Amino acid sequence: MQLSIGGLTPLTTIDFPGHLAAVVFCQGCAWRCPYCHNPHLLPITHDGGGWQRLQRFLEPRHGLLDGVVFSGGEPLFQSGLADAMEGVKSMGFKVALHTAGTHPERLRRLLPLLDWVGLDIKISFEHYPQLTGITGSGVKAQKSLGLLLESGVDHEIRTTADPNLFNRQTLLELAEKLAAFGVTRYVLQPCRPVGNTNQPGNMESAALLRDAALLERMERLFTSFMVRDA
Ligand code: SF4
Repeated sequence: MQLSIGGLTPLTTIDFPGHLAAVVFCQGCAWRCPYCHNPHLLPITHDGGGWQRLQRFLEPRHGLLDGVVFSGGEPLFQSGLADAMEGVKSMGFKVALHTAGTHPERLRRLLPLLDWVGLDIKISFEHYPQLTGITGSGVKAQKSLGLLLESGVDHEIRTTADPNLFNRQTLLELAEKLAAFGVTRYVLQPCRPVGNTNQPGNMESAALLRDAALLERMERLFTSFMVRDA
C-alpha cells in the first residue's frame, strides 16, 4: 500500500468535529496557490512507506482515537489514498478528509468511505486559475462540491478570508453563490498568521471576520454558519 506522508499529528480535537483524531499530512499537490502554508508538502519526497508508519501508530490507539484525518498537501493527489483509507477503516477507525477538491473523480470513489469532509472553496470558481495557476481548477473544485453535497456525507464547506483575494463585497458574493449552489454548512476561516500577527494582511483578515453587518448577512444564507477562531 503506497502512501507518502510528510508528517503526523498524534491528536487533534478540532480537525474532525466531534472526534478525537490523528492527522496525516499527505505529500503532493498539483496546484500552486501562492499562500500555501504547507509548501514543503507539495513535492512527493518520501517513498510511499507512510502506510506502515500510520499502521504502527494506530495499532496501540484503539479506544483512544476515534479516527484519522487525511490532510495535506492535497490528499487526493495520491492514487493510493483509497487503499490507505480502507486500511484505516478496517482497523476500526473513522476517516475524514481535508481537500480542495482537486480530483473530483477520486473524490467520487472515496465518498462511500468517508465519515466527514472539510472542503476548501478558495474563491469564485471562475477565478481559480488565477489563484492556483492551473487551467480548469475551478471546474474541478465545483464538481467536487457538487459530488460532496449529493453524497450526503457529513461535511463543512470553508473559505479562508484572505484580504489579498476578498473584500467585504466579494466575500459576500461568494457566500451567496455557494448558498445558491446548495451549500448549507459554511465556515469562514481567518488567514493563519504569517510572522508578525500585526502584519496588515492578518489584521485585514481579522477585520473582515469582525464585520458584524457582513456576518449577519452571511448567517442568513446558511443553516449553519460560523467563523473559526484564529
Ligand atoms: S490546493 Fe492546498 S496544498 Fe495545494 S497549493 Fe493550494 S493551498 Fe497548497
